[in-house]
Parts: sequence; C-alpha cells; structure tokens
Amino acid sequence: MLTVREGQERIVAQIGNAVPPEVLPVTRALGRVLASDVEAPFDVPPADNSAVDGYAVGSADIPSAETRTLDVVGDLAAGVVFGGTLRPGQALRIMTGAPMPTGADTVYPQEVVERTGERVRIGPIDKGVNVRLRGEDVEAGGIVIERGTVLRPQEIGLITSLGIWQVSVHQRPRVALLSTGDEVAEPGTPRRPGQIYDANRFTLRGSVEQCGGQVLDLGIVPDARDELTARLREAAAMADVVLTSGGVSVGAYDLVKEVLAELGTIDFWQVAMQPGRPLAFGAIGGTAFFGLPGNPVASLLAFMLFVRPALWKLAGRRRLFPPTWQARTLETLRKRRGRREFKRGVLAYRDGGWEVRTTGPQGSGILSSMVAGNCLIVLEEDRDDVPAGEAVTVEPFAEPF
Ligand code: AMP
Ligand code: MG
Repeated sequence: MLTVREGQERIVAQIGNAVPPEVLPVTRALGRVLASDVEAPFDVPPADNSAVDGYAVGSADIPSAETRTLDVVGDLAAGVVFGGTLRPGQALRIMTGAPMPTGADTVYPQEVVERTGERVRIGPIDKGVNVRLRGEDVEAGGIVIERGTVLRPQEIGLITSLGIWQVSVHQRPRVALLSTGDEVAEPGTPRRPGQIYDANRFTLRGSVEQCGGQVLDLGIVPDARDELTARLREAAAMADVVLTSGGVSVGAYDLVKEVLAELGTIDFWQVAMQPGRPLAFGAIGGTAFFGLPGNPVASLLAFMLFVRPALWKLAGRRRLFPPTWQARTLETLRKRRGRREFKRGVLAYRDGGWEVRTTGPQGSGILSSMVAGNCLIVLEEDRDDVPAGEAVTVEPFAEPF
C-alpha cells in the first residue's frame, strides 16, 4: 500500500514536461501560466517623478528653520516634461506622476505650503521626499515576473505597464474525461429505475478547468468491454491526460482494469487514505491516465491529491501543491492510525484563532459534504482519534488561480 505522499511523488516524477507555449495577447492570458520570464525593457518608473500634487524644489532652497519664499515658474501636469532648469529661488507646481524637472529633487505636498499669487512660502522638510526614483520599482533588464507564474489581473497589469501586449504562455493541457458505469445517466435526459445521474464528470470538468486545463468531454461509457476499449483509445489519441471515474475497484463490472492492461501500462494502487483507496495511474501511449474511484467524494478528493499536481505540472506551474494551515478542531475526530484521512470542514476565524468543524456525515458518496465545506481537514498517518481542541492541518479548497 502506498502513502499519499509516495503516490504524489511517483505521479509528479512520471508526468512529462509542460505542454508547449503559445503567444497570446495579454487580454486572453488571464489564468494562463507564463512560459518565459517577463523582463523590464526599461526602468520602472522610467524617470524620477513626483509622488504627490505639490511643488518641486531644489534641496539647496529648503530652509533649515523658519520659512522661505520661492517664485513659482510653471505648472506641470502628469505626462508633461518641464523644458527648462529650475534655478535657485524657484519652485515648479507639479502633479502626481509628472517627471521631476532638472534642478529639483524634493517635492512639497501642496497642503504644507502657502501660495500667494505666483509665490509660495515653504518651511523645513527632508531632502528628497515625495519623489519616486527612476527604476525604484524595477530596473531595466530585471525579471519582473518569473516563468511558471499564473497570470492574475495584477500580473497582467504589470506586464502592460511595461508596454508589452503579448506574452508567451503554456497551452492548456487537454484532458479527456469520461464516466463509466451502466447505472450512470446523463443529466437532462430521463433516467431508468436504478440509474443515478452523473456527478463526477461535472465535478471533474470544473476541477480541470480551475486547474487551467481544457476539457474534452467523452460522455458516459457503459460497462462493456469493446466500447470501453474503443473510447479509451480515442481519448488517449486526442488528449494529454485521460481521466475516468468508476470501475477501478473489484466489482464484477469493474472493467477498466482489464481493458487498460491491454491498452497501456497502468498500475492499480491501493493508497493508504480515506476516502478513496483505489486509484489507477499510468499511460496509454504518451498520454497519462488516471482512473479515479466512482464515489463522488472519493473521485473529487483523488483529483485534488493526484491529478491536480499533474495538471499543474503540465500547465507549466512552478508550485504543484496548495498551501496548508493549522486550525483548532471544534469536535473530536475519529481517525484510524496508519492511513491519511480527509474530512470536509468548515474553517472560520473566531476569537483570535482559526477553528474548524466537520460538515457532518462524511460518507464517500455524500457530495453535499463537499458543498457545505470550505476546506479539507487532513489527518496524517500517525494520528489516532483527535480530541476536540487539538490543532489539525487544513487545506482550503482551491481558488481558480
Ligand atoms: P464503481 O467504482 O464503478 O463501483 O462506483 C462506485 C460508486 O460510485 C457506485 O455507487 C457508483 O454508482 C458511483 N458512481 C460511479 N460513477 C459515478 C458518477 N459518474 N457520478 C456519480 N456516482 C458515480
Ligand atoms: Mg462502476
């Protein structure tokens, strides 16, 4: 039996390099992963400029005590360059962001001066204040955003602030998705007695998209050897990853195993975890294959633990695992030593600390436990029952980025 960590390490080691890059306009790059470093083509900001609306002066004119009066020789808007040089005894009215005039190195905020006609009275101030220096944000040639970074709105804005409008990002890994089982019915169609509507293909679809993948939906395959063989072959030919749910345990109709043995090199793992022990992982030709359990909670959990890092690696991301936190459990948690258990939790901050409770019944078919929750409670292999009040590891459900 494998530990969760061992399973994850094997998968990450076996998954190939990131899918190739493509060049996209920044307006279509949100959520994509940078394929090469973004370097600054010039200093940011490109020139010393004023951080406030006020008056630019040369520091030689700053009085050390008392006040002094200077002539206001002009009015400078943002985006305009002052043509002349500021001389002793002169000040220039300047707006936030306007380049500093030659001869000035300090800006008085307008609230601290007294303006009368074309003259302004100033007092002591620190030399050099209220000036944003050329290159203080980024120096020309410096790396502004590293490859492997997911582009959020702020990264996009930083890129466009450099005058860049197209970027090299990884393509989205293609993930072929199918559900197995005679009992699984397509939502929106009538259902025969004994059938259940498909949940997994849709939790998995959303999960793939949240990971930056592109879904190729191959629908539901009945438990019939020939059809399964044909559909899996088709899936592998068109995708970087094939993802199925159901049919990997030991039921009489669990054909995925048999069929895969013919099509590719697949390991059937027993992972020391709860819920969701069985997992199939391997390759059909050059395409990675994951056979997830059929129970809806187990299949979504298996996705989070084993498929997400693989997709993130294929998508070119640097970080493959989400951060975890510590919280105090509000209830006693039943736990069997020797396996890693995952409960669905509700995490909240109260009275100066993070607290977590479970969402109630934790059966691996109870998908509403995922709906009610906002995190996984992770109980490590070496733990027994956890009494209320103890610290536990929590992993918040991932955001789209
Ligand atoms: P299996 O591993 O195929 O025996 O499936 C285990 C359990 O998960 C059974 O109760 C199945 O009915 C259920 N199941 C399998 N596939 C799905 C699906 N796509 N959506 C919801 N439940 C499913
Ligand atoms: Mg089945």
